[in-house]
Amino acid sequence: MNTDVGVFIMIEKQRTKMPEQDPKVRATNFDEVALGYTLEMAKKEAERCIQCKNPRCVKGCPVNVNIPDFIAKLVEGDVENAYLSITDTNSLPAVCGRVCPQEEQCEKVCVLAIKGESVAIGRLERFCADAMMDKDIPPEKIEKKNIKAAVIGAGPAGLTCAGDLAKMGFDVTIFEAFHKPGGVLMYGIPEFRLPKSLVEKEIDGLKELGVKFELNTVAGRTYSLKDMFELGYESVFIGSGAGLPRFMKIPGESLNGVYSANEYLTRINLMKAYKEDSTTPIRRTENAVVIGGGNVAMDAARCILRMGSKTALVYRRAMEQMPARNEEIHHAMEEDIQFEMLTNPIEIIGEDGWVKGIKCIRMELGEADASGRARPVPIEGSEFVIPTETVIMAIGTSPNPLISSTTSDLEVNKWGIICTDEETQATSIPGVYCGGDAATGAATVIKAMGAGKNAAMHMAEYMLDKNK
Ligand code: FAD
Ligand code: SF4
Repeated sequence: MNTDVGVFIMIEKQRTKMPEQDPKVRATNFDEVALGYTLEMAKKEAERCIQCKNPRCVKGCPVNVNIPDFIAKLVEGDVENAYLSITDTNSLPAVCGRVCPQEEQCEKVCVLAIKGESVAIGRLERFCADAMMDKDIPPEKIEKKNIKAAVIGAGPAGLTCAGDLAKMGFDVTIFEAFHKPGGVLMYGIPEFRLPKSLVEKEIDGLKELGVKFELNTVAGRTYSLKDMFELGYESVFIGSGAGLPRFMKIPGESLNGVYSANEYLTRINLMKAYKEDSTTPIRRTENAVVIGGGNVAMDAARCILRMGSKTALVYRRAMEQMPARNEEIHHAMEEDIQFEMLTNPIEIIGEDGWVKGIKCIRMELGEADASGRARPVPIEGSEFVIPTETVIMAIGTSPNPLISSTTSDLEVNKWGIICTDEETQATSIPGVYCGGDAATGAATVIKAMGAGKNAAMHMAEYMLDKNK
């Protein structure tokens, strides 16, 4: 018998609620929706943890945060050491506390979930990170190795890899195509889910560790991989993500008013197009349609809603098949986004070069497809038009082929995903490693971070071996 299970009869079944902005108010602003715990709330929630001897939650975390350890410290009110316990293995806790799909990872396997709600591990992680955000924690003493490593891409994979290498004493430079580091954390996930000031502070932590950033630098254009080795970098990590948007290939996709979710979100988040005084504004329209059912579709829909559009979300499968996090679907519904489920777009209708509407067909669920999910089948004669001036496509992304197309011996599969060794993340080129969305296709922040961590360890071994 699991001895941990018997203890929790006395435990509060429900987790401590986290305050949120009212849906009607937040639908008109870009401020953070979830407001975070107070110390009192955090301690109350932390006290629900029964300190399992075999904590399943730790195994459920892709970077193995010592969850019971940080929670025990929080119960004692020792927030600083709770934070240090988390940052032992997770360099971006304020980010992960907000955007990790905990309900599929640590919280899914938490023993309390058997008879009630799991410990709100993500909310506690967020509390510790936020509470320590402005506190001065003396930097660790690092013995420098005088060995240079390059990281391509400043998303969660690249940032984690760089941070871990810097902690081991390597001289690390990140080459980033955009003018700001952060990857999707900065250009994709909206301010109301992840305030950019927090991402910037977590990146400042890496700068304090000695990580250097070369921004506006495109690997495969500004420097090839070969150039990087010639510049003295002894190993290279590719963390270039999966930022190439897919389209449906239906008529009307080249009309004005059609965006990929990536473009729309980049304009809103990175270029701050939502601000009244933005120097790169975006057209506001009365109506908008977002196509897709994942987190990206939810983010795009909730952004354009805040830009004043009456917004509909069109998804070809059923509600229960949506890949987006339940919390995001719930928030989008509360904000009055109209959900058009089992509906597939077949044509974007235009007038004078601009979008005027989108023609769709209703679907029904048929036999299971290769993914095991019931396949949506069109219902003949059910076509209808949704009037709209904006269409945003959020139906998936693939890795950008720029690096692979300019690096002849870098092996990629038929979807453009860079091939890596499962254990070490080494690519087909000696000394070159890859992780995150570039090596898996679109996935999650924490998986990208886990990959960056693992690659850093193997890059270190490779470089130290070479310098013996
Ligand atoms: P990215 O974050 O994509 O970073 C790659 C970086 O590399 C970028 O900064 C890019 O500019 C740079 N780059 C690309 N090519 C080059 C080049 N040639 N030279 C130099 N730099 C280059 N995951 C979650 O866990 N929770 C969520 O709630 C969530 N929401 C999401 C919402 C949106 C809108 C999107 C798009 C994704 C979301 N994800 C979420 C997925 C998650 O953000 C990604 O899985 C994760 O960011 C992948 O990290 P990465 O470091 O591999 O790539
Ligand atoms: Fe056990 Fe859940 Fe606490 Fe982890 S968070 S130690 S699984 S009660």
